[in-house]
Amino acid sequence: MYLDEFEYYAPKTADETFELAGRLGSQAKVLAGGTDLILNMKQSLLKPQCLIDINGVKEFQGLIYEAGKGAVIGAATKISELEHSAVLRDKYFALHQAARELGSTQVRAMATIGGNICNASPAAETSSPLVALGTKVVINSAAGERELPLEDFIIGNRKTALEQGELLVKFLLPEPAPQTASCYTNIGLRNAMEIDAVNMAVNLTLEADNRTVKVLRLVMGSVAPRPLVSVEVPALLVGQALNSNLIEKAAAAAAGEAQPISDIRATAEYRREAVFVLSRRVLQEAFNAAQEV
Ligand SMILES: Cc1cc2nc3c(=O)[nH]c(=O)nc-3n(C[C@H](O)[C@H](O)[C@H](O)COP(=O)(O)OP(=O)(O)OC[C@H]3O[C@@H](n4cnc5c(N)ncnc54)[C@H](O)[C@@H]3O)c2cc1C
Repeated sequence: MYLDEFEYYAPKTADETFELAGRLGSQAKVLAGGTDLILNMKQSLLKPQCLIDINGVKEFQGLIYEAGKGAVIGAATKISELEHSAVLRDKYFALHQAARELGSTQVRAMATIGGNICNASPAAETSSPLVALGTKVVINSAAGERELPLEDFIIGNRKTALEQGELLVKFLLPEPAPQTASCYTNIGLRNAMEIDAVNMAVNLTLEADNRTVKVLRLVMGSVAPRPLVSVEVPALLVGQALNSNLIEKAAAAAAGEAQPISDIRATAEYRREAVFVLSRRVLQEAFNAAQEV
């Protein structure tokens, strides 16, 4: 479990970071919290010759919220900062819940939201809520900047749309519409430090009558190579006055859409059943919360 030798770079500005990433190319890896990367290096799964530590770059840090516009979260923002953010708790509850579930206190103090997304594990805690919330990512390199919806950024198991020399810089979360609530839930083998067998986030907006679904996103994690955005659940529920019968039907539809595999954490059958139970729960919770906004 020893690390191979590598060169360590600690840029102080975003421009310096992009110049280094462009110049060092495939020899380099970005180091954020290191909670995935360093383990992979210790197990010799990755052998970068250079690490570019982005923790000293101000442009990658922190959460800013502007009423009416939404939130901007720097890629190197620690999960612990998100866990304790009053803005996330009040405006983007699903992400707040997911941040609280990631790893342990020690892991959350090191791990970043950008690292969680760039690692692109199908079981990642923050991808389902971020996708459900309609998040866009800003990607930068020495050549310039581009923006993508997060669901187009995560393209497969451990695969992202990042090109060589590009970094994920920040997340853009839209202002929630009136009468909107979001919820997150997960299930794993045990209650602490587990990697999710299934996770799920819902973002739901009600019409002025406080019963009819106006907009809905349900996103499932760990049941497909990338976050799975339900098509059938919004097709069933948007325009309908929500009730327990409809929620039951929607949960069955979500279970039908899941594409789970069997692995050490759960069988495919268990995951499909978990999708049914979690969808029913999270839809009801989001509905109740949206009625109270
Ligand atoms: C004990 C333990 C428990 C864990 N529990 C959970 C859990 O419950 N849920 C969960 O989802 N994860 C869990 N993890 C995994 C890990 O902690 C998270 O995925 C974490 O968010 C990774 O962030 P990081 O900042 O440490 O990333 P790093 O390890 O620094 O980086 C991860 C990858 O992303 C790349 N990268 C990082 N930032 C950028 C950027 N801005 N631009 C381009 N590339 C970038 C790196 O080069 C690397 O390839 C756990 C890990 C450990 C060790």
